[in-house]
Amino acid sequence: MSVSTFEVHGPADGSLLATLPVCDAATVSEAVAAARIPQAAWASLGPRGRARRMERLAEVLGRRADDIAEVVRSETGKPVSEALTEVVVSVDLIHFYGKKAPRHLRSRRVGSGWMPWKKAWVEREPHGVVGAITPWNYPFVIAMDTVTAALFAGNAVVLKPSEFTPLSALLIEELTREADLPPDLVQVVTGDGSTGEALVRSGVDRIVFTGSTATGRKVMATAAAGPTPVTLELGGKDPAIVLDDADLDRAVPGVVFGALFNAGQTCLSVERVLVARSLYEDFVRRATDLVSSLRVGAGDDTDVGPMVTAAQVDIVERHVSQAVAEGARALVGGERQAPGSSVFMPTLLVDVKSSMDVLRNESFGPLIPVLPFDDDEEAVRLANASRYGLFASVWTRDSARGTRLARRLRASGVSINDVLSHYALAGLPMGGMGESGFGRRRGVEGLEEMTRTRTMLVDRGGRSREPWWFPYGEGQTRLIRAVLQWRARRGVAGLLAFLRSMVQRRGRYGD
Ligand code: NDP
Repeated sequence: MSVSTFEVHGPADGSLLATLPVCDAATVSEAVAAARIPQAAWASLGPRGRARRMERLAEVLGRRADDIAEVVRSETGKPVSEALTEVVVSVDLIHFYGKKAPRHLRSRRVGSGWMPWKKAWVEREPHGVVGAITPWNYPFVIAMDTVTAALFAGNAVVLKPSEFTPLSALLIEELTREADLPPDLVQVVTGDGSTGEALVRSGVDRIVFTGSTATGRKVMATAAAGPTPVTLELGGKDPAIVLDDADLDRAVPGVVFGALFNAGQTCLSVERVLVARSLYEDFVRRATDLVSSLRVGAGDDTDVGPMVTAAQVDIVERHVSQAVAEGARALVGGERQAPGSSVFMPTLLVDVKSSMDVLRNESFGPLIPVLPFDDDEEAVRLANASRYGLFASVWTRDSARGTRLARRLRASGVSINDVLSHYALAGLPMGGMGESGFGRRRGVEGLEEMTRTRTMLVDRGGRSREPWWFPYGEGQTRLIRAVLQWRARRGVAGLLAFLRSMVQRRGRYGD
């Protein structure tokens, strides 16, 4: 029974949007138990049957796109084009899995090696009920990533959204009903961290967590008791490296967009900008002009909107004031739009040092710290001086050079002359290394993560016993030795060695 409630406020003007229950452990367990009922029938539809049913969900998303964007906007304050992007990317993923899932989820024959009378294959089966815990920065699409992959793979989902943005998740539940997906297949449990923790403890069959590294550690520790397998999609401190041959006409607007899209509240945001010294002054001048020209605020016609949570604005403010106190300069921005405002002005920082939080810890806000480097070696060293490992971008006129450099970066995704588009390509898996977590969302890898393998073997030999079964005798040992010679040498030579050994065996034992 949930007794307490919490309020959801719009970050743009602080207005009250909803009052919702903080679901307790009993309520979460009930949701998980209820999800198990339709899940079995859903799984039995098979990949093709499920893909057909999911087409309907894509249609509903297309039809309700403006409603979705409005809900996303109300609880995040982001500009309408950014809210609509969440819908586009979600629809695209459904179509991608619609094409790929039936092929990737079908069973795969495995060679039966030296036992040709056996037939073996690998099947992929759903985990059962997947628990998804999601953050507030992209409340629709991040939840849809997991819901989509989980459903295509045959799972049910219990979704715990951030307490700051639960309305988009509740809308997802409604949209799945509108698409005629089975009742209770997708359920939302609203609440705070305690609800998330209850979901991890609830006996779900897999947890997909997206959020901060600090909470990710707690989730993993709690999941260890199960043990429940976890996917952790955590924070990042993504570098953009502007090489000395970069085209600044593209690099400047690209890097600024990558840093400020969604007010910088994006896991694959540009969080550090490293610029070749020969281009540094020009880059800083052009970026300053561009950032100064952006329209900022909570209204309809803005480029950069407010931040979602007061706590995150505090972090951004702290990073900037610490950097400035230690000698950095804010060439643009550097403060809130007004005292107490959730709008933090896009900020370009120079004279930053690697000891500063703004270069070490995730800011998750509209900050662009820029620092120069002298050669590619130094660029790689600076870029890799991070405990995170999520994304990076490299800007150069020579894409082969950029690709070579990209391979040396501690990042699980790198764009050359681009930013953020990774997320718009449904086939590219998302995920990190180091303190950015592990496991993948999206792409066929994200789909496979929603399944476990069942390996199958059928004996077709029809004999009453295998030659290596009990009771043991010298014959078995010789047989195993013969097989060993075959497998060790392989090819024709190995086969001949095996046959020779078997003939000797016959000769000696007459069996
Ligand atoms: P948090 O880690 O604060 O919260 C994430 C989710 O976990 C929320 O739903 C939260 O609930 C819930 N939660 C809190 N405590 C617990 C707990 N003990 N057990 C289980 N669940 C819990 O992250 P934010 O919401 O602040 O999101 C921002 C972070 O997300 C950034 O670090 C960002 O980099 C990361 N992120 C990573 C992405 C990636 O793909 N790698 C993508 C997007 C964001 P509640 O909010 O109600 O407390």
